[in-house]
Amino acid sequence: MGKLDIRNLRKEFADENQSIIAVDDLNIDVEDGEFLIFVGPSGCGKSTTLRCIAGLESVTSGEIFLNGDSITNQPPTERDIAMVFQNYALYPHMSARKNIGFGLKMSTDMSQDEIGQRVEQVAEMMGINDLLDKKPGELSGGQQQRVALGRAIVREPEVFLMDEPLSNLDAKLRTTMRTELQNLQQDLGITTIYVTHDQTEAMTMGDRIAILDGGELQQLGTPLECYYEPNNRFVAGFIGSPSMNFFDVEYINGTLVHDGFQQELSQETREELVGHEGPLTLGVRPESLEIATGNEHGSISAPVSVTEPMGEITYVYVDIGNKRCTVTLSGEQVVETGTTLNLLIPEEKMHLFDADTGETIK
Ligand code: ATP
Repeated sequence: MGKLDIRNLRKEFADENQSIIAVDDLNIDVEDGEFLIFVGPSGCGKSTTLRCIAGLESVTSGEIFLNGDSITNQPPTERDIAMVFQNYALYPHMSARKNIGFGLKMSTDMSQDEIGQRVEQVAEMMGINDLLDKKPGELSGGQQQRVALGRAIVREPEVFLMDEPLSNLDAKLRTTMRTELQNLQQDLGITTIYVTHDQTEAMTMGDRIAILDGGELQQLGTPLECYYEPNNRFVAGFIGSPSMNFFDVEYINGTLVHDGFQQELSQETREELVGHEGPLTLGVRPESLEIATGNEHGSISAPVSVTEPMGEITYVYVDIGNKRCTVTLSGEQVVETGTTLNLLIPEEKMHLFDADTGETIK
């Protein structure tokens, strides 16, 4: 069992000159066995939240419960939680074997033989049996991270906390380790919170994503919920790569007016927008912009400034009014720089946000 409840968590760092609210009234229930991803811009409070859960940081207020019991004031060693860091944090003078077994030696009354067997089992699982007698300095980054993961797994904790564990690895190894970690988490069924900056990791690895900004939770949902139904403009812009295009528009008499286009809305959308006349933010994902096949009513003239053929897809950068936008096209659609595209924004793919608060309207 590893059900983690974070209740009204607040962490403030203060000295005589200033005070920083790193985590602000955070409420998250992490289900037993769940793989939860924390994402957000640098400084949004991801690591601090993880450190509070691990007990490496005291909380300013709020409570953290593990399986219904408050662990808020428990020392880190008494929490049944293992943390894996970005820089592996291995003991440089110890062999991989000793690094993996160290926690068990300190925290259990297992015999030397039992610890040895357990370390071998975990090393087998991590594919590092033949590296057990090497020291961290003799191992590659990927091998060191496997040892660090092995050290966390060997303790059979209730919860794993992982702070950007793959970010020091090269792109190829990162992709391999990503799937390995996912499989491992599923096989072990251990509740995991995983901090990342990486869009692909955020979208593919977890059951749910928690998106943070300024210490506050912006959305908690499955990757696809956050992608297709963002709570606000921040989430819409943060999730998805390349990012959503945003336009400052005026909503007047059933029409969205921008300096590069005007788009009349259907009756159904007008009903959703009752009471929202005036400035709005329109969001459209790069893959939602379509090329008009004929001279469809409302098509938008968009001069092409740059194209980036990636193979299967091409990113095309166009100007719509005064706004530079990204359009994702299939790689087979050849578009030349200097030409003009006629684009359509399908109404069902539009996201509309309150211009002041950024909250989602539609
Ligand atoms: P990154 O993605 O860059 O690692 P993060 O989302 O993990 O960022 P945190 O490291 O949790 O962010 O930091 C949140 C805020 O708290 C930041 O403004 C940071 O400067 C501040 N902070 C973190 N640790 C301390 C500390 N020990 N003393 C003072 N301020 C701190």
